[in-house]
Amino acid sequence: MTARVAEILIPLALDQTYSYAVPDDLEIEAGDLVAVPLGSRERVGVVWELRQGAGDNFKTVAGKFDAPPMPAPLRRLVDWLAWYTLAPKGSALGLALKLPGEGPEAVRVGVRLVGPPPKRLTPARGRVLEAASGGLVHTKRQLAEAAGVGVGVIDGLVDEGTLETVALKAEPIAERPDPDFIRPSLSDRQRAAAEVLAAAVATAAQDQGSAGSRHPVILVDGVTGSGKTEVYFEAIAAALRAGRQALILAPEIALTSAFLDRFAERFGTRPAAWHSGVSGRRRERVLAGVASGEVAVVAGARSALFLPFESLGLIVVDEEHEAAYKQEDGVCYHTRDMAIVRGRFENAPVILASATPSIETRVNVQRGRFARVALPERFGGRSLPDIRAIDLRRDAPDRGTWISPRLVEELRRTTEAGEQALLFLNRRGYAPLTLCRTCGHRFNCQNCSAWLVEHRFRRALVCHHCGHAERVPETCPACGGVETVVPCGPGVERIAEEVATLFPDKRRIVLSSDFPGGTERLRNELAAIAAGHADIVVGTQLVAKGHNFPNMTLVGVLDADIGLTSGDPRAAERTFQLLQQVTGRAGRGSKPGRALVQTYQPDHPVIAALISGEAERFYREETAAREAAGLPPFGRLAALIVSGADRAEAEAFGRALARVAEPPPGIMVLGPAEAPLALIRGRYRFRLLVKAARDTNLQEYLRHWLIRAGKPRGSVRVTVDVDPMSFL
Ligand code: ADP
Ligand code: ZN
Repeated sequence: MTARVAEILIPLALDQTYSYAVPDDLEIEAGDLVAVPLGSRERVGVVWELRQGAGDNFKTVAGKFDAPPMPAPLRRLVDWLAWYTLAPKGSALGLALKLPGEGPEAVRVGVRLVGPPPKRLTPARGRVLEAASGGLVHTKRQLAEAAGVGVGVIDGLVDEGTLETVALKAEPIAERPDPDFIRPSLSDRQRAAAEVLAAAVATAAQDQGSAGSRHPVILVDGVTGSGKTEVYFEAIAAALRAGRQALILAPEIALTSAFLDRFAERFGTRPAAWHSGVSGRRRERVLAGVASGEVAVVAGARSALFLPFESLGLIVVDEEHEAAYKQEDGVCYHTRDMAIVRGRFENAPVILASATPSIETRVNVQRGRFARVALPERFGGRSLPDIRAIDLRRDAPDRGTWISPRLVEELRRTTEAGEQALLFLNRRGYAPLTLCRTCGHRFNCQNCSAWLVEHRFRRALVCHHCGHAERVPETCPACGGVETVVPCGPGVERIAEEVATLFPDKRRIVLSSDFPGGTERLRNELAAIAAGHADIVVGTQLVAKGHNFPNMTLVGVLDADIGLTSGDPRAAERTFQLLQQVTGRAGRGSKPGRALVQTYQPDHPVIAALISGEAERFYREETAAREAAGLPPFGRLAALIVSGADRAEAEAFGRALARVAEPPPGIMVLGPAEAPLALIRGRYRFRLLVKAARDTNLQEYLRHWLIRAGKPRGSVRVTVDVDPMSFL
């Protein structure tokens, strides 16, 4: 056998592969996971390339892991991702290298009803007993969800001997979804859309491997409740029939058990879930199943895009407009865009679903690069919610309150009719600003340029950027005033307090991503709301995302103007999307829905379009404005963020970058300017913005520029963000 040399990519911030000699008796192929010496340590790496040659000068590959190799299309995606984002290749590999999980799979415990009723029978306990009355074994979580209580209530009943625990077998991972399990009867429009999607999947499967094969991107543009999910399920069925795998990407919090169950109703079994809550041994089993092809469908958060599918035949990006798809730290990439790239490498169609497609996607449809199917009506003749503005200049809430009398009245009517209402405010905590009413002292973070936000639940002032927390003081640190420190403005916790005062006997749930219990708790609470165990829900934007609450008929937006005034070029689009999504939670069941939108600017184009329902006009005008300004998708942007522990050093490097920018025609470099968030976690920040015409090779320009500037010194770092979504 002739000597072989392996080019190994190591998941560290390194931009190139390293050469190693391969021992004669080691069978390896491109994609294999191997151990190699690097410096004084042994590291895991992936075989990127193998070639013949004498390896005398190189260190030797130490061994091969018994793990699924990384398939070629995924390796191509890593190369492409690194090229596009300018991240080191090894960092891009880090996203795709899912090492076997640590620790055992969590033991699943079931409970069943055995003992006498508890001594103290609260309404919550009563609901649990009712839900458990069939005598079946439930998991704690299922039972808690069914009863709309926290898992603590279940534990209490176990302690009292009313419920008994039983160990359950690990949940199976690879049951095969059955494309013909229960086929829904689709409306004509839905069927037409489903046929387009299914045909694309089937054609791509047939063409696999042949030259000129097609991998279309198709937008499913349908209003909230039109059956987009139902329709893309048919495309998944087509992938299953063709013997290929499917990936559904969704914002993390949308991966609720309600969603997984809905999939099971259609296909007879849940898909494999992949998100931050899936851990340890289970992660490893899903990974192995995906690599062997046994797992046919994965529903996952953005990291699922990098799973080693054996034969991926379809990617669905649900809620494609969602900003959470943009990864902002480490490798800055957009999950939707990378899903399209992966679709190309896998020869798999990509479906983008949204009620409020992004302008980028709309323009791609207009240019003929993406196909589009439309579902302009809600399923079953249901109407879209009736949306009205409440002009806060005329219909103002009382001092120190935030819910206007008209909205209070509607809340009363709704809850008295036994229906659910949602109050939406995109502000976490109790109050966004705390100040001393005597001297005007404002509390801000010592590490960041940001106000501290009071979280009454945690009894602390918290920084939303670095997590710094301090107690709310009794005296003002500036003037020594006693009891002069007051909260200013509302957050969801404060609204919840107001609701409690107004409707003390109604069941309330507050939903905010910062509450203890994490995503797990949020998933349970979303299930409880869907099951009807709340009358009034107060929530931040995470309630807006694709959930189905059948009995919710009223949505109140407390402050529609938040976000309109930020300097972000997408501010109007984002606000419109968010308001359209959140008002779309109303009336998805059999009863019609209404939405009331509190605003000081009812004539603002965003608010006016929302009220009049003229979404198309809004998008047309917004698209024209982007085109006129040369903003994406008509021009390209990249941001360079220079940060450092020393302000002068960071600024100096920003200036040095600007000096050697040498932009060619078609490219403009702006800055450095102090970032709107000038200080985060003790690091001072400056931004440069690159504006380029659409047909310029932005990556090549950036690469050469960074080489000219040289490596920053000291604590200074430069982060490159191609296609930035955030400008803070
Ligand atoms: P979207 O994803 O567009 O918001 P969904 O797919 O969630 O819409 O559908 C909204 C509701 O209508 C869901 O409760 C769904 O089960 C129901 N639905 C949609 N299409 C059908 C159908 N063809 N048959 C039965 N129910 C449907
Ligand atoms: Zn901070």
